[in-house]
Amino acid sequence: MIEGLTGLVITKADKIYNIVRRNANLYFNYYPKVIVYPNNITDVVNAVNWARKKGINIRCRSGGHNYESFSVADDAVVIDVSNLLDFEIDTNKGYIRIGSGYTQEQLYSKLEEYGFAFVGGSCSSIGVSGVTLGGGVGYLQREYGLACDNLVEAQIVDAFGRIITANSHENKDLFAALRGAGSNNFGVVVSLTLKVHPNDKVTVMNAMWPKNSRYEVIQAFQKVGEDLDNRYTIKVTMTKDTILLYGVGVRSTEKEMEKALSLLLKVPNKINYTTKYITFNESVQKRPGFVPTPTGFKITGLLAYKSLGKEPCQIMFNYLDNSPPIQPPINIGFLLLGGKIAENKDLPSAYPHRGAKILVQIDAQWTLNYSMHANDTIRWVNNLRKSLLPYAGFGYLNYCDINISNYLYSYFGNNVPWLKIVKEKYDPYNLFYYPQGI
Ligand SMILES: Cc1cc2nc3c(=O)[nH]c(=O)nc-3n(C[C@H](O)[C@H](O)[C@H](O)COP(=O)(O)OP(=O)(O)OC[C@H]3O[C@@H](n4cnc5c(N)ncnc54)[C@H](O)[C@@H]3O)c2cc1C
Repeated sequence: MIEGLTGLVITKADKIYNIVRRNANLYFNYYPKVIVYPNNITDVVNAVNWARKKGINIRCRSGGHNYESFSVADDAVVIDVSNLLDFEIDTNKGYIRIGSGYTQEQLYSKLEEYGFAFVGGSCSSIGVSGVTLGGGVGYLQREYGLACDNLVEAQIVDAFGRIITANSHENKDLFAALRGAGSNNFGVVVSLTLKVHPNDKVTVMNAMWPKNSRYEVIQAFQKVGEDLDNRYTIKVTMTKDTILLYGVGVRSTEKEMEKALSLLLKVPNKINYTTKYITFNESVQKRPGFVPTPTGFKITGLLAYKSLGKEPCQIMFNYLDNSPPIQPPINIGFLLLGGKIAENKDLPSAYPHRGAKILVQIDAQWTLNYSMHANDTIRWVNNLRKSLLPYAGFGYLNYCDINISNYLYSYFGNNVPWLKIVKEKYDPYNLFYYPQGI
């Protein structure tokens, strides 16, 4: 027991400490001073006040999947919200109010009972808070916007220990900041109110081509993306051997989706191809490319505002053809943006890249028996990122990368000055410090 701290409190003296201090990315290995699992808001307030009085930085954690493991640090107070699991739903209005501890998996299955889905990211194990506060791209995005666009209210405990509600009427500045810049910058988010959508069946498309079709597929993908109906969100992912198309269509028959993507599907030499009309939750479980965490990983993202032509494609092919021998193999993905993300450009938020066309994802995840290649792999990702900067750039908070030097501008663009004012108001001590914080 530590005087002043309530909830479940784990210190170095506890056997479980060495398990719970680790995040999903096992490349990092930190030793926090204490890990607090609050059971309610009072426990959060106590933890924040305790940390402030002692002068110790706080790292908030929900799903623990941050790419750079920013939700844990040596000697910090980690406030892990995963026991905050309140749940209320208004099925008439299509809103939920949840504690900030849900993983995507927990929330998808909870919502399925009511026939709703929320707008989140692709992998089930990530935290709803992390994904929403940092933006949130996923397979419903072109129809419903980013995860943070679907945030309608949040409750936070700020650095003074005050409980603050933020929405489009109250504390509007904080509300806008939490949409896309809320990760560990202004306080501990304890609850989220989110817009949810009917959990209809979706059409899911998978197609694969061999390596020598990579360029043609990428060009057709970009061409199709220029005026694709918002109902469809698509991504192509290439490894050194193949290129895979994965797409989700909402309120669409298989035939309609095939028609919308016909130019892409016409690229010759397909190895295999399926379209299926399945439940949304089945689509979530069967998404390709999941590497079960924990693993080691280095992932980065670049935003392309213009189409990617021959030169950047050739750079990526050369890198992939000479990639470190990790398993699973390194992949580069192109997620089509636009649609509702772009249409929401006037929505108050910290996310600046509404005009970007594609999120380029360089994704290296290795099972632990390939850890000896970790440093080479990280160097490889960094070098590839650097080589692509003439063609795509910036960054995206949920794809945070310690190697982005001008990270605030990269993540938030022209929103940085007002975000700094919000930071000053709610966390003037920088109690919620982390290496790429505001
Ligand atoms: C396998 C995998 C798949 C992914 N897929 C996607 C995807 O499809 N779309 C997408 O957009 N991103 C995706 N990501 C990135 C993911 O969105 C981010 O890593 C996200 O930050 C993870 O959230 P988390 O809660 O799991 O992580 P955490 O590490 O717990 O938190 C992430 C950040 O948010 C802060 N934070 C957490 N909880 C709170 C809180 N309650 N209050 C204030 N700050 C808080 C943390 O301090 C940290 O800075 C993926 C990541 C992985 C590893």
